[in-house]
Amino acid sequence: MTPSVKPPALERAPRLTSQEAGRLAAEWYGLSAAAAPLASERDQNFRLTDAAGARFVLKIANAEEPLEILQMQNAAMARVPGAPRVITARDGQEIARHGAHFVRLLTWIEGVCFAEVRPHTPQLLASLGRSLAAMDAALAGFDHPAAHRAFHWDLQQAAAARAHLGLVPPERRALVEPWLEACGELDWGALRHSVIHNDANDYNVLADAEGACITGILDYGDMVYSATACNLAVALAYVMLHEQDPIAAAARVVSAYHAAFPLADAELDALYPLAAARLCLSVLHAAWQTREAPRNAYLNISNAAAWHLLERLASLPAGWATEVFHRAVRPEAGLAAARRRHLGPSLSLSYERPLHIVRGWMQHLYDAAGRRYLDCVNNVAHVGHCHPRVVRAGNEQAARLNTNTRYLYEPLAEYIERLAATLPEPLRVVYLVCSGSEANELALRMARAHTGRKNTIVVDVAYHGNTNALVEISPYKFDGPGGGGRPEHVRVARIGAAGHVAELARECRPGLFICESALSCAGQVMLPPGYLREAYEAVRAVGGVCVADEVQTGFGRAGSHFWMFQTQGVAPDIVTMGKPIGNGHPMAAVVTTPEIAASFANGMEYFNTFGGNPVSCAIGLAVLDVLRDEGLQENARAVGGRLLAGLRELQARHAAIVDVRGQGLFLGFEMTDAARASALVNRMKERGVLLSTDGPRHNVIKIKPPMVFGPEDAGFLLERLDGCLDR
Ligand code: PMP
Repeated sequence: MTPSVKPPALERAPRLTSQEAGRLAAEWYGLSAAAAPLASERDQNFRLTDAAGARFVLKIANAEEPLEILQMQNAAMARVPGAPRVITARDGQEIARHGAHFVRLLTWIEGVCFAEVRPHTPQLLASLGRSLAAMDAALAGFDHPAAHRAFHWDLQQAAAARAHLGLVPPERRALVEPWLEACGELDWGALRHSVIHNDANDYNVLADAEGACITGILDYGDMVYSATACNLAVALAYVMLHEQDPIAAAARVVSAYHAAFPLADAELDALYPLAAARLCLSVLHAAWQTREAPRNAYLNISNAAAWHLLERLASLPAGWATEVFHRAVRPEAGLAAARRRHLGPSLSLSYERPLHIVRGWMQHLYDAAGRRYLDCVNNVAHVGHCHPRVVRAGNEQAARLNTNTRYLYEPLAEYIERLAATLPEPLRVVYLVCSGSEANELALRMARAHTGRKNTIVVDVAYHGNTNALVEISPYKFDGPGGGGRPEHVRVARIGAAGHVAELARECRPGLFICESALSCAGQVMLPPGYLREAYEAVRAVGGVCVADEVQTGFGRAGSHFWMFQTQGVAPDIVTMGKPIGNGHPMAAVVTTPEIAASFANGMEYFNTFGGNPVSCAIGLAVLDVLRDEGLQENARAVGGRLLAGLRELQARHAAIVDVRGQGLFLGFEMTDAARASALVNRMKERGVLLSTDGPRHNVIKIKPPMVFGPEDAGFLLERLDGCLDR
């Protein structure tokens, strides 16, 4: 079979008037009916309505349509439940002839085009899956010589559509070519074959007036003997159009289809590339046929939407859609139950209905059911979830060498140079550890070793880590549920009051003062200008050490500066860093002055089995490279500024927002109460945006997304917030 590259004879489409169609109906079928034209590509269809209101479809075929193709369609329709039925003419024929054209009369199927029903509810999508399954099951044992044809809509021949690539703008070709290629590479021999309908597009699928179920699938004109899965794939291509979560919608169809007519694994693997290839055929054939018949509007019906969807599909993580399709046909894996059985109950899950996330890609997370979420809270996936450069750096180093810091290796030497270079003098001595808690724990030991004093000043509601010593200096924990209250050696300064730090310093002569450079757990609170200068001076005046906890705030998030403490015009004695440093890889660091490092080197070695291993260093380096090469600090400044302005604008219109604050991509807004904040977070999640609450009253919504968060993401977040706050 050679693929057809011939335009489908649009010039040979019938051109009857409605009056002529009405006359034909009377003459051949004895039907006295009013005729009205229906949309069609290469044929002509009329809706006939008789005096009693009964409806029929009069189909007049293209002059190039061979009789045997129409005979095949009739035979297939007779088998498929719910398909239109052929009405014989007065002379007993199923197919009449009018000049060069064959004519048929079909029963009318009530319904609204799937394309015109919104929303596509889960029930409707499931109903479509069942209808397609019933159709394919009915045709499984059917064959007809006319189906074995070279046909440009047969996905097996999708590669032939490359001939039309030149008709689309160069920048769009990349959206199409990979799918045509993927189709060519499929193992077609491994797929079941049968005669398929091959055109369950959103104008050929009808739903009932309520949009609750499918009433029928029309137009058997594209039937071909091909892989059975192509029939479902074609429908999926159109199901995905206009959906916020195209893969989730498609998965509902797949699931219902599979329950009625099981799909093999190879078919599940093929569905997504086939569906995407169908979109490609749609845009390429439209480009081709528009050249042939510029005035036929029907050809361009789904063109813009198909391009839009192809763009969306190109942005999804590779393999995710197919994974979702496979998951859609399997029973759910009781993940929550396994956690309940084997994880300590002191760990909670986010959201009223917890998320089952299976992929991360840049600023998005993807769930098992096919939904995409804009991640506005994960400041660990700093340069983007699964950033390929970071992943590659880790993989390559892991495949080469991973050991501990008692050997010489390049990644460590290079990394500590690069990390130290981000900090002002004299912060030059680096310790590599594995978590923010380890970093703060080490900072605590260093400060105490250097000063010989244990007293510690912390800021109210602060959290510095999960170890014994850190829970003792974290008011967020010791004053919270299950907490044991403030220990003797700890003093708590009021938020934002540098004078209070000075007062406490004079009172308790602290070994250290530890403070985040902008307060996260306290509810995304910016320190007042001059705060750290005054507090540091007071602490140093009594011989204390100043520790900046940059675990949440560092690595360019501030936008204006690489480190948040720099926005205060100070340099701490010890800086601790974590979360974003490894983009999700467990690593963290402490950087201090040679003087403090010398005091700490009192003979007891500090060794950390995993800290500073070559893989961690390679990953840390890649993070620094991406930050620089992608200009992410500047992005945080620009997008953060825009977002802050947008949030202020929302505050002006929504009384539920009482304050908006932050800098760069470290932002937050305070709501009237925790119940409202929690409701908003859960509602936003249902609308595809991940947020969370913080602050002593749990009424602050924090925004600290991956730094690749772009202007469109800011726009999307603001639009969704506006919608949810309206309710
Ligand atoms: N410091 C701050 C400011 C933090 O937010 C956290 C973690 N939330 C930590 C330290 C502790 O980091 P880790 O969880 O990596 O031990």
